Amino acid sequence: MRSINFTIYCVMSVGNLRDLYQQVILERYKAPRYRGQTNPVHRHQRGHNPSCGDTIELTLKLNDAGDTIAEVKFEGEGCAISMASADLMAEALQGQTIADALAMVERFQQMMKGEAEFPKEQRKLNVMQGVAQFPVRIKCANLCWHALRAALESTGNASTTDLVSTEAES
Ligand code: ZN
Repeated sequence: MRSINFTIYCVMSVGNLRDLYQQVILERYKAPRYRGQTNPVHRHQRGHNPSCGDTIELTLKLNDAGDTIAEVKFEGEGCAISMASADLMAEALQGQTIADALAMVERFQQMMKGEAEFPKEQRKLNVMQGVAQFPVRIKCANLCWHALRAALESTGNASTTDLVSTEAES
């Protein structure tokens, strides 16, 4: 308990993050549920956020028809926000169609501008709203979503290793 409080204190020193936001981010960062690689790998995408140094490698498993996400996993190194965002994203994407997942990318990016939030079924993602208060960290939270969009828009060639960067944000 003492060490957890100490970690919260350290994160707070980055900015005055709110309680729930802190708790969820730290919990996901320390004990991610979706780390690893899917088997098989139908889509693969690496991403990089140069402004913080976060890197991510996403793998996706699709259903037999190839239009729905069966599973998402990630590997990577980075700050608590980037890793927690990826873990929450991976959870929210299970069972989503590719079209719905692309709409979620848009919604997440709007949420980072304070312009949208997720409906009840995906409300766990709303915890990331706290990041919108810290513009310098928005790219950390967006990194996995950038990588997801690139993965979904790729041809499906699992050997693709092109790197998406948050600096290339349109
Ligand atoms: Zn970061």
